Amino acid sequence: MKLKKRLFVIVLSVAFLFMATTAIAAPAKYVFFFLGDGMSSSQIQATEAYLTTVNGGSATLATDLLKPGNRLNMSKMPVAGMQTTYDAHALMTDSASSATAFSCGFKTLSGVIGMDEEKTTSYKSIAQLAHEKGKKVGIITSVSLDHATPAAYYASVSTRGYMNNIATQLASTGYEFFGGGGFASPEGPAREGDTANNIWTLLAGNGYEVRNTRDSIMALKNAPRDKVVCINPFLQDASAMPYDIDRINHYSNNLSLAEMTGVAIETLYNKKGKGFFIMVEGGKIDWACHANDAMATIGDMLDFDNAVGEALEFYRQHPKDTLIVVTGDHETGGMTIGHATTGYKAYYDRLLSQKSSFQYFEDNQWAANQAEWAESDCPNVSSDDNLAGNAEMLDLMKNIFGLDYATLNDYQKEKLEDAYDKSLCESNDNTDAENTLLYGYYNPIIVTITHILNEQASIGWTSYSHTGVPVPVFAQGRAKVAQKFAGFYDNTDIAKKLADAMDLPELPVEK
Ligand SMILES: [Zn+2]
Repeated sequence: MKLKKRLFVIVLSVAFLFMATTAIAAPAKYVFFFLGDGMSSSQIQATEAYLTTVNGGSATLATDLLKPGNRLNMSKMPVAGMQTTYDAHALMTDSASSATAFSCGFKTLSGVIGMDEEKTTSYKSIAQLAHEKGKKVGIITSVSLDHATPAAYYASVSTRGYMNNIATQLASTGYEFFGGGGFASPEGPAREGDTANNIWTLLAGNGYEVRNTRDSIMALKNAPRDKVVCINPFLQDASAMPYDIDRINHYSNNLSLAEMTGVAIETLYNKKGKGFFIMVEGGKIDWACHANDAMATIGDMLDFDNAVGEALEFYRQHPKDTLIVVTGDHETGGMTIGHATTGYKAYYDRLLSQKSSFQYFEDNQWAANQAEWAESDCPNVSSDDNLAGNAEMLDLMKNIFGLDYATLNDYQKEKLEDAYDKSLCESNDNTDAENTLLYGYYNPIIVTITHILNEQASIGWTSYSHTGVPVPVFAQGRAKVAQKFAGFYDNTDIAKKLADAMDLPELPVEK
């Protein structure tokens, strides 16, 4: 080969190598981060077993479980990894420190958001850094907008309980889209030491429009706004959206998490812009698991996964520019697939008749039952037929949860009787230690109903709190960027990988 020709080949090779390298390093323009609060592999498998059953298959047949229509969007993604969830000083993290790990890239104490363990230095989140680089930002959650997980993307506070302070910081972010639940404490301090601002005034002063009807929020799809806060019309508990099982049956004027995600995508997408970062939290998967209610969990898992579906739809139109990452922050409830009473069998059809969440039942039917019966039954709290003799309550158990009292064994009936007395009269013949183990901080009769129902299906619960198992991560999108989410790593690495995917500065970044 002549020298001239050889030189030309070398130059060409270097040019190709450079192009290939830049292709690998090129950041993703549109980035989605989906966070199922309290979601680990049990929540995922239980939901797929339920889907298989509700679609007419059997949760005990591999051929049915493996059918694509019985699988979640997330578990069909091409890249999978797993992350450790512990925080700086706890094997079982809380949602504030885990959200800080995902958003800022370092470990801190439970309860702390966007600050170090000493609670002296504040750090920028990947959302803030992306916004500074010209990306639009959307923060969506099924719980209140000032709750720990969303807060970690825009606020720094020494304690997650300062929710007025958190909302105050939200109002000055300049982020383009907030959507989901409302505010826990919009007009005063949430607790001592908190700020006392009127959040509505601050939002208006900073150019935000607040929308809170289904029609006005959906209208954003065709007429986007620059800065908008979308709050669902009905908020169920602690300013959160209703459980999806309740939205479907009772509050159809609300948006699902999936619909809210769709609105955010339409609002933030701009072909000529620098792209967006959207964080979507399925926050009540966690709350349902704290309460040990499998069907409320599964309902919110399905809505969360449908939200992932909205992002996948967007990905199909922009495959080279999009990255989607889905994970949980920790497992909640110690949920498991299998139970001592069912061994290797599973009966997910037992779950099909539950019509409301534990919360809806407590707020409505239970409240009415207690008002009607407490006065007559509680003087005889030691009587062993307060529940057995209450035909109305037995009907409610059957109609709302699909739990047929007549078919239960004596042990289950006794557990229900004890729980009923504790709920109705705040007293039963158990020791305090027994009651703590059996009910946690939840309504005894309702948590006992869901325990028995879930156990019949073969779903077990071991805690009313978070647990410390590692959590799966799923990714799809821009090939080389998505691939970085394969492997076993720490939760702080997720923030670093996302920062890398958006070409942000190395984390952590001080404010
Ligand atoms: Zn959490």
